[in-house]
Amino acid sequence: MRTVNLVADWDPKPDFKLGSKDIDGKLTYLGSKVWRNPHCEIIEKDVPKPGPTEVLIEVQACGICGSDVHMRQSDDDGYIFYPGLTAFPATLGHEFSGKVVECGPQAINKRSGKRYEPGEAVCAEEMIWCGNCKPCADGFPNHCENLQELGFSIDGAYAKYIKVDARYLWSLEGLRDTYGEEKMFLLGSLVEPTSVAYNAVIERGGGIRAGENVVILGGGPIGAAACAVLGKSGATSVILSEPSVPRREMALSMGATHAIDPMQVDVAEAVLDITNGMGAGIILEATGLPSIVWKDVEKIIWEGRAVNTTVVLVARADDRIPLNGEVLQVRRASVVGAQGHSGHGTFANVISAMSAGMDVSPLITKKISIDKAEENCILLQTDRDEVKITITDFE
Ligand SMILES: [Zn+2]
Ligand SMILES: [Zn+2]
Repeated sequence: MRTVNLVADWDPKPDFKLGSKDIDGKLTYLGSKVWRNPHCEIIEKDVPKPGPTEVLIEVQACGICGSDVHMRQSDDDGYIFYPGLTAFPATLGHEFSGKVVECGPQAINKRSGKRYEPGEAVCAEEMIWCGNCKPCADGFPNHCENLQELGFSIDGAYAKYIKVDARYLWSLEGLRDTYGEEKMFLLGSLVEPTSVAYNAVIERGGGIRAGENVVILGGGPIGAAACAVLGKSGATSVILSEPSVPRREMALSMGATHAIDPMQVDVAEAVLDITNGMGAGIILEATGLPSIVWKDVEKIIWEGRAVNTTVVLVARADDRIPLNGEVLQVRRASVVGAQGHSGHGTFANVISAMSAGMDVSPLITKKISIDKAEENCILLQTDRDEVKITITDFE
């Protein structure tokens, strides 16, 4: 089968020290300090054989994630943008859905409590958590100490087939009646990024009470999916701030009630105006630009009449927050960080919400074949109008 692999040179920067879990020449938790000259190669690989608890899946749809873009993107010195866990060469792809083809005798389907059957539609978590470390045992697999990641440190789904242990799989069969097979698989490939949004605003942000207002800063896939999740949760106003016109229009079709252009209007003034001075229960930081957006965040909290605002940081940014603690104290506000998507029923709840009409398929703005994966990863380095480009042809 054809697979799209990220290939790069192991060439550590002078200040890099091999970490205790790094493997010299192969695996690091600090990708951008090590990997140089990234490119993609189409490599023929054997179809994998599932072990006793594993499932072989024929991939039907796989989205290109911003992380894939950043693994293929390099700075002036040739080092990759992506800062995290990576082991190259690796087949890319972690936002996927597919059909079960074959499975081991102990590959249990959480939907039925029995062994998986061929034909079952599934999607998978990207985080391959161990289940044994302290954070896993405490119920926080997103913070597993022995994490591996599909499409980063082990082979992913830019391929016709992938094998995954059954414990990371979730059935999509609940979507079949509502959407039909083709759309079920497209939505299935969006469960992973939507679960990142769900984990951010519901698990970490604490969710909202029906009737509250929310603000989403940044209309990329996570910000737009958060509009859908919070709209479904009963928010009165779901206000998105995003400069791109197509992204604003897409979010409005998925649950945002207002979409404002931060290049044209004062974001905090607009939020206070739309909410009649109330402000917001949740503000989601999905831009990765804290030094630019934080003045608006503070003003919404300080001048809004809602107390208890929770600011959730979901976009990664190697930058400090210009934070005035007084604002948090006087307005009883808090700031929390969100990472990942696993645990606490997140995948199951996202699929369930989709089955009840939370349709995030407008996120997919373009469908491609597998041989176009690399050129579209490069396109997304600069294009701000496409949202999710999805591989749907794997021949
Ligand atoms: Zn992703
Ligand atoms: Zn663990």
